[in-house]
Amino acid sequence: MMKPDAQTVSAALARLARNIDEAERAMTPPSPLPASLPLDIPDDAFLPFIRDAIDGENPSVQQDSLEKGKEDGRQVQFLGASDVLFPDTEARDYSSCSLKELSTLVSSCKNCRLCETRTYTVFGEGQEEHPVVMVIGEGPGRDEDLSGRPFVGKGGQYMDRWFAPIGVSRQTNAYIANIVKCRPPGNRDPLPDEVQACIPYLRRQIALVQPRVILLAGAVAAHAILETKEGVGALRGRTFSYMNIPVIVTYHPAGVLRNLDRLRAPVWEDMKRLASMVGLPVHAGKKQT
Ligand code: SF4
Repeated sequence: MMKPDAQTVSAALARLARNIDEAERAMTPPSPLPASLPLDIPDDAFLPFIRDAIDGENPSVQQDSLEKGKEDGRQVQFLGASDVLFPDTEARDYSSCSLKELSTLVSSCKNCRLCETRTYTVFGEGQEEHPVVMVIGEGPGRDEDLSGRPFVGKGGQYMDRWFAPIGVSRQTNAYIANIVKCRPPGNRDPLPDEVQACIPYLRRQIALVQPRVILLAGAVAAHAILETKEGVGALRGRTFSYMNIPVIVTYHPAGVLRNLDRLRAPVWEDMKRLASMVGLPVHAGKKQT
């Protein structure tokens, strides 16, 4: 087969990425990918040229996607749903953005597939200058997607009650944000490439807000920030560092609501620990967890 030109290879890559994206969007709610996706890709002989392009300048499709792909006639089987990468993720630089400018950028962001199913982006809210704590969750749920505000559903309201006995609130001294700013369909966990696409916004938020402590709520946030696979049970009670800011981990409020008997007490311990780190008094009589 004759070596195709760069434009042809690039077009094939774009088509491949689009097909994966469409197949993924068609799954509601998201579930493990079907055994094979009918992808309109060129003949087998074309694949080496695609690999060359991936090795070269076009990072639209991860190399290992093709390595994982099992060719079957004109079908390719993919093992993960996170194979599509958006090309300029690494290149984006928000270091000169104010919080307001960043929020405006987020509101029209199309850097990952979550832009296609969101109602509103959910940027973050609360005390924007040196809050005692910045809470980071995984992403907006249904209520947040519909309102454009973080942690306003049942879980968020419950989390507000965690903070009351230690004198923390988003109205006065806390800032609340998420790893991804758009709701993953069906409240699934954000996929690795979605986290990768969105986390530069969060990093800039943290740099601007400069909280005294970061509280990661739930495993998704903990894994994204701390780059670990350890569970929340193993991470809580320890202090980490992210961008030179102390980081602690607790359970996600929605998860606690589903398992109050087991998780309420550890969360209260985490709140007392947070209070002690930032020097706030604990009003045990007001314990609400
Ligand atoms: S989740 Fe983040 S990166 Fe993806 S579209 Fe929304 S704002 Fe952009």
